[in-house]
Amino acid sequence: MIIKELISNLAILVTTLLLYTQTTSKKPLETSSLVSKKIIAGFLAGVLSNVLMQYSMNLGETIVDLRHVPLIVVTYYGGTLPGIIAMFFIIIGRFMIGVNSSSLAALIMIILITSVTVLSKQMNVRKSMKIFTALTASNIIFTVIISFLIRDLNTMLVLAPSFWILSYTAGFTSFYIIEYVRKNQRVLDYYKSEATTDGLTGLNNVRKFDEIFNQVSSQAKQKNERLSLLFIDIDHFKTVNDNYGHKEGDQVLIQLGEILKNTVRSFDVVSRNGGEEFTVILLDCPTERAEQISETIRKNVEMHPFSLTTGETIHVTVSIGLASYRETTESTNELLKDADDALYEAKKGGRNRVCIA
Ligand code: GH3
Ligand code: MG
Ligand code: MG
Repeated sequence: MIIKELISNLAILVTTLLLYTQTTSKKPLETSSLVSKKIIAGFLAGVLSNVLMQYSMNLGETIVDLRHVPLIVVTYYGGTLPGIIAMFFIIIGRFMIGVNSSSLAALIMIILITSVTVLSKQMNVRKSMKIFTALTASNIIFTVIISFLIRDLNTMLVLAPSFWILSYTAGFTSFYIIEYVRKNQRVLDYYKSEATTDGLTGLNNVRKFDEIFNQVSSQAKQKNERLSLLFIDIDHFKTVNDNYGHKEGDQVLIQLGEILKNTVRSFDVVSRNGGEEFTVILLDCPTERAEQISETIRKNVEMHPFSLTTGETIHVTVSIGLASYRETTESTNELLKDADDALYEAKKGGRNRVCIA
């Protein structure tokens, strides 16, 4: 019978934690989370513990369940504040079931468990060791306190080992689920950012460029805004690679990315569209202003001493093609082609220059 109730507890616990962790996986509970988030988490843990108490087993006036596990979990991840809130709800819930020596003992037990969890979290050991310590300390606290309430040795001989086994199982399963969901989310976030970011420069890659370009062009059409696009290509970049090597060429690309980012306005969109070709989307920007920005980029690049890993510095120049929606170009669909054609003109005209479509 003892096992049956504790297994119901385990099932409720695991299901609820899985749901909570999955729905909050984008912004999981941490000690650095907002106070409001900690309060909600503490409250939810308290509610869960109270639900577990409803499925507890009765031994005379004493009830036994896994209410300490949500408390340990929320204290472990969220820190002292949610721990204390959960503790508070557990104590109230327990007194609502009955006021007697057993509920008083439960009060002491839950305060002690909260304290040992807070302490074990601060220990300088591996995560799993902290969890093991918090669970073991809780099991010891439980056993000592319950031995004052249950004087029958035979009952204790069944209860104590069952409780230890299920408490460890529930505790480790809970942590395993949470860590598993969090790890999956981290991997997903990593691949999402890999899919949209250029690995070398940290700028948008061509896929992200396409996505943003489609978005801002329909916005420009709707809101009747102007939109300028720059195509930027390094002049004679092949010579840089030939003279200094591909690795040093990469240094130039990284620094050019920095120059572009620092020259344009904070809301403009800088991307590396491939090789040594970069683009800048200038939002709500007329041709005249776009031309000024392009000239500044061109000059900044020309002046910049690009440092190589050898300590040497070199100079490179860029050619820029500019097209502007509503001024040089009537449809946003033509913008890419027009900017590319303008870049070609800049190359043909002698490089290190800005050409407008
Ligand atoms: P132009 O002035 O006509 O643009 O001459 P260019 O030499 O820059 O043009 P071209 O398109 O012939 O050469 C581009 C070079 O860019 C060829 C390739 O070796 C180099 N390149 C492309 N991607 C990378 C990269 O990721 N790293 C390095 N280091 N070089 C790259
Ligand atoms: Mg090129
Ligand atoms: Mg080039």
